[in-house]
Amino acid sequence: MQQKIPTVIITGAGLGGLSFYHALIKNKDKKEFNVKIFERESGPQDRWQGYHIGINNFGARSLINCLPSSVASNLQKGMPNPIPDVECHGFSLNDHMGNLLLKPPSKQAKDVYGVANASGFSAIITYRDRLRDVLLENVPVQWGKKCIGYEETEEGVWVFFEDGSKEFCDILVGADGINSPVRKQKIPELQIFDFGITQINADVAVPKNLIDRFIRINGNSLFQKTLGLNGDATFIIYRLIPIEQEQEQNDKNEPHYRTTLAFSYPTKLDDNVENDKIKVDDNDPASVIDHAKHMIRKLRPECELTNIMLELWSLVPRTAPDSDKYPFKTYNPVQRRQMQDINPLSVNEWTSSRVTLLGDAAHAMSPVLGLGANNAIQDADVLSQALLNYSPENYISCIKEYENEMLKRTSADVLKSRASTLRQSSPVGYFGAIFRNNFMKMINVMMNTFDYDFFSRK
Ligand SMILES: Cc1cc2nc3c(=O)[nH]c(=O)nc-3n(C[C@H](O)[C@H](O)[C@H](O)COP(=O)(O)OP(=O)(O)OC[C@H]3O[C@@H](n4cnc5c(N)ncnc54)[C@H](O)[C@@H]3O)c2cc1C
Repeated sequence: MQQKIPTVIITGAGLGGLSFYHALIKNKDKKEFNVKIFERESGPQDRWQGYHIGINNFGARSLINCLPSSVASNLQKGMPNPIPDVECHGFSLNDHMGNLLLKPPSKQAKDVYGVANASGFSAIITYRDRLRDVLLENVPVQWGKKCIGYEETEEGVWVFFEDGSKEFCDILVGADGINSPVRKQKIPELQIFDFGITQINADVAVPKNLIDRFIRINGNSLFQKTLGLNGDATFIIYRLIPIEQEQEQNDKNEPHYRTTLAFSYPTKLDDNVENDKIKVDDNDPASVIDHAKHMIRKLRPECELTNIMLELWSLVPRTAPDSDKYPFKTYNPVQRRQMQDINPLSVNEWTSSRVTLLGDAAHAMSPVLGLGANNAIQDADVLSQALLNYSPENYISCIKEYENEMLKRTSADVLKSRASTLRQSSPVGYFGAIFRNNFMKMINVMMNTFDYDFFSRK
């Protein structure tokens, strides 16, 4: 007798959920599933997806494993090939004046395949919104379907949506981000950890002369962080590929580059803002930009690097821009956000069942080491491989195999990212900074001498 084709429901069409969808479809000759994917957003351009992310060796490897060649051939749109001798796809850490503290070795690759196959750490700075667009191509996402819970029975799982509808499946995969309702129901004890750090993120189009000034001080890594003395940090991620659209609108002679800005500081410093007579309204982007600049002026010394930071923040749109002229498809009204993570192994029990989690839903992590999306994509790869052995009798062992690997791998990365974040956001003061900076410089020499990188996973 022919067996019924099992149904898998994915809630959440982010990078993790979409990679998983493709992997199941790609493997259908080996194991066929009826796959349905539901997303709460009303359509592909509903929400800001803009910031840049670094996809590293293991993320790239898993991405290639998950994608059929028809989709993989479009990856260039989201992760254009590095420009040799111009771009340096790597990370560097500088102090508040721009002095180099740490620049881990990073193998420069020709393309995403080169990153995936590199021995040692390698990464490619990726346009997150365009990567999502590539992953969305030909995927029958059911939009406007917000999952609000599920009911698990012996036979399968009923998934409930806010619009009153419900769907039945054999396996439910919650890939629905940090506030996942699936996680909240499956493991209510699993709590979100709040760092006590505020982060403000924005996308900007930066003119060449400003990027050049920045590179002159901070060096040419595309993923750069600077540390202040008060637990404050700046994060800048960019590509040196001119934005065509921008050049049509503005100064034709000056290229502009897509850049992500982030500024973080201990949240308790916001308590003093009232004394500074600054009013911040998170619904008013202009006030948040003014606040970011106020904090930079307050926490950073007067120097060229601080001036550049202020100029960069001055480029952030103060109101919703004209979408025809805006180089990023979706506009994000700049807002303060609390940095949070979830350590999936902070609970004693994780019982494997027909309902499982993938990506930020299970293990959101601080962005400082750039590991969140890489792990979400790797989850998709590992779970799809485990499900190749699916049968109505052994589905639990498939899910268990995935969860055992996922929990160990991602908990280690959550804790590593958390430790780095807390270390870097501790106020050190002037003398503490001398010690910290010298210590980091020493680590830098060791990393580069022995070609060891903290980011790589062996
Ligand atoms: C500034 C910044 C920089 C970062 N840099 C990096 C980096 O360099 N490298 C890296 O690897 N990671 C980075 N990350 C982290 C990375 O973006 C996330 O880890 C990654 O997007 C997680 O993917 P995901 O699919 O699990 O979740 P998401 O991308 O959050 O997708 C979840 C999806 O589920 C949908 N959803 C939510 N609730 C529901 C519901 N109830 N029903 C249905 N759908 C729902 C959401 O709308 C969304 O589309 C960064 C993050 C930030 C903020």
